[in-house]
Amino acid sequence: MSSFVAYLSCARCGRALDHRVPQGLCPCGGPLLGDYDLDAVASAVPKADLPARVPTMWRYRELLPVEDAGSVVSLGEGFTPLLPMPALGERIGLPDLWVKDEGLNPTGTFKARGAACGVSRARELGIRHVALPTAGNAGGAWACYGAAAGLDVHVAMPAAAPSANRAECELFGADVTLVDGLISEAGRVIDRQCREEGWFDVSTMKEPYRVEGKKTLGLEIAEQLGWMAPDAIIYPAGGGVGVIGIWLAMRQLRQMGWLENDAPRLIITQSAGCAPLIRAFEQGSEESEPWRDGQTIAHGLRVHKAFADFLVLRAVRETGGTALAVTDDDIRESIRSFGQAGIGACPEGAATLAAAEALRERGDLSSRDRVVLINTGSALKYPDALGAD
Ligand SMILES: *Cc1c(COP(=O)(O)O)cnc(C)c1O
Ligand SMILES: [Zn+2]
Repeated sequence: MSSFVAYLSCARCGRALDHRVPQGLCPCGGPLLGDYDLDAVASAVPKADLPARVPTMWRYRELLPVEDAGSVVSLGEGFTPLLPMPALGERIGLPDLWVKDEGLNPTGTFKARGAACGVSRARELGIRHVALPTAGNAGGAWACYGAAAGLDVHVAMPAAAPSANRAECELFGADVTLVDGLISEAGRVIDRQCREEGWFDVSTMKEPYRVEGKKTLGLEIAEQLGWMAPDAIIYPAGGGVGVIGIWLAMRQLRQMGWLENDAPRLIITQSAGCAPLIRAFEQGSEESEPWRDGQTIAHGLRVHKAFADFLVLRAVRETGGTALAVTDDDIRESIRSFGQAGIGACPEGAATLAAAEALRERGDLSSRDRVVLINTGSALKYPDALGAD
């Protein structure tokens, strides 16, 4: 193994903190991000060696924070297919359309990336109990990796979360608390329990390593396209960890000289029923205002205020991207369109197709653009949205 992580730095105040001990937030309250010795990675790793490496996200181990190979808990996550969708793309005026299909990860969503990295690093640092609020899929992924690693996982989730999520948390032996209300209420429960019980809080962006795992999504897209970034990537944002991860990935690749062109425009979408990040983007704000009474069939997007909203908005603006809300009806329609093209999309992932169509109509995307949609999870985790319940 050989991680080239050098320290952690606060995304708000810039303070540097030691990565060799457990860290949650910066003393100022800001989220921490990994800082790597990128020059050393670029000279230690010939890009041409990568194709021979393990087909999981751990092929980028130098750009991940786990220091000892023996600490890695891997169930085969990552290196999911990036599929060209010419016929579907043609129909919406985007012939160079691609889908990164994250439904093929363990537990059926891209949450596996953050959980694999976060659990591996927690175990390496000697942490025994981790706790998190979840809209559903993060809980399932952390429960699964926690089981594989022998860590105790404590999860609080809205009682309204999909039944599949509760079932998988129980299958993997997590301690589950059901909460009346949204993920924010679940967050308050976890916050209190962590203070009382001394558990380690792994809430979205409140520990530094989940986002490091999600970074591999961006690294893979670049590698799978021959180290040429697409023109745009459309991401369904809830807490926004994935889009922050892709942004960090592209920045690191450019700094290492591995990306042959400019970083892609990062575009986020949310459901019109709960769209605090879209509203903040449209208003030109640096942070979002909490969204009241959010409702959507895309449970992963039902986040009334993302903790790292300022980073999501910075990622979108810095890359010349944009933000757009789509309705739940558009999402249902796009689940069907994906299905007809052989892709079993979750509602969150389907939102990216609806957004692509609307952005093409609006003129924000052109027929020459290479556009990558992130299907964040498998349709099979949402039997209710499929009409199977
Ligand atoms: C969690 C989740 C999202 C949102 O991810 P963030 O990184 O929190 O923005 C999107 N889709 C699915 C399926 C999810 O589980
Ligand atoms: Zn700080």
